[in-house]
Amino acid sequence: MRLRCPICGAPVEVPDDAMPGELVEHDCGVVLEVVRSGDEISLRPFQGVEEDWGE
Ligand SMILES: [Zn+2]
Repeated sequence: MRLRCPICGAPVEVPDDAMPGELVEHDCGVVLEVVRSGDEISLRPFQGVEEDWGE
C-alpha cells in the first residue's frame, strides 16, 4: 500500500502486511511508525525510545 509521509508529504511504500508499530524509513530521512486507528493505517514520525544520556 502507499501512504503519505507526514513530514515531506511524499508517498511512502509500506508492505501490505505492515503491522502497527512497524518502522519504515523514508527517503527524506525520517523514521515513520505505522499506526492504526480503526481500519485506517497511517504513519507518524517515530519519536524513538527515550534515551538516557546520563550514563
Ligand atoms: Zn518523508
